[in-house]
Amino acid sequence: MTDWLKQIKWSEDGLVPAIVQDAQSKEVLMLAYMNEDSLKLSVETGSTWFWSRSRSELWNKGATSGHTQRIESLSYDCDGDTLLVRVHQVGPACHTGSYSCFFNEIELAKAASEANSDADSVSTGAAATEAGQGGDRFAILGSLESVIAERHAERPEGAYTTYLFDKGIDKILKKVGEEATEAIIAAKNQDNDELRSEASDLIFHLLVLLRERGLPLDDVMQELVQRHGKPASNNAMKREQSKA
Ligand code: AMP
Ligand code: ZN
Ligand code: ZN
Ligand code: ZN
Repeated sequence: MTDWLKQIKWSEDGLVPAIVQDAQSKEVLMLAYMNEDSLKLSVETGSTWFWSRSRSELWNKGATSGHTQRIESLSYDCDGDTLLVRVHQVGPACHTGSYSCFFNEIELAKAASEANSDADSVSTGAAATEAGQGGDRFAILGSLESVIAERHAERPEGAYTTYLFDKGIDKILKKVGEEATEAIIAAKNQDNDELRSEASDLIFHLLVLLRERGLPLDDVMQELVQRHGKPASNNAMKREQSKA
């Protein structure tokens, strides 16, 4: 255990910042500080322990709220002055009841134009926003996974996703089955408007199921990447043949 412990660069007051990330959605949940004792406790127990700078005491996340964090992986950065803790988060990570602590968004374009009355700076802000959206045609899947994770943690009243999670896994499974059936019927009817709608329903409910089961969308994507390029006989065909 001491090998990696020597790599950590503690601040003057014996602390190291720990970024806590949802291992499933990859959202950044919170930042807190660890001292040597809390880091050791985190490793030993598999749940997160921090040093509370305001209360000057060790703090096991979720001890009072029940909003615990099971550690999936722990790493330190290039120069050992920051930790990254990937967790399975139960409930909201923030003590305000928010899924993530980082809900105060600074609107870049607006903030940039306020900071600089020069008209040129406005277009810089807009460009930055555009770049942030990237060229990924399927970025919506990642956004959807994050919104569903937020609903799972916060359970906002009246939200359909809250209703699904409150009802539980059997309801979610039933919906996945129904939406798959509806997609099949739409395809059989050669109705692509209907198929587009039902395929969307199916993908949404599948993402809800992944959240309920704690399976990252990244794992599914990784599986697709691994299969990609292999001769068909290695995967889909083989599975079909083994069924016959
Ligand atoms: P908990 O660890 O969730 O049982 O919460 C216990 C106390 O820890 C809270 O009342 C807060 O003072 C503090 N706390 C919990 N979560 C956070 C967080 N994400 N960021 C800062 N302080 C927190
Ligand atoms: Zn660093
Ligand atoms: Zn918070
Ligand atoms: Zn439907």
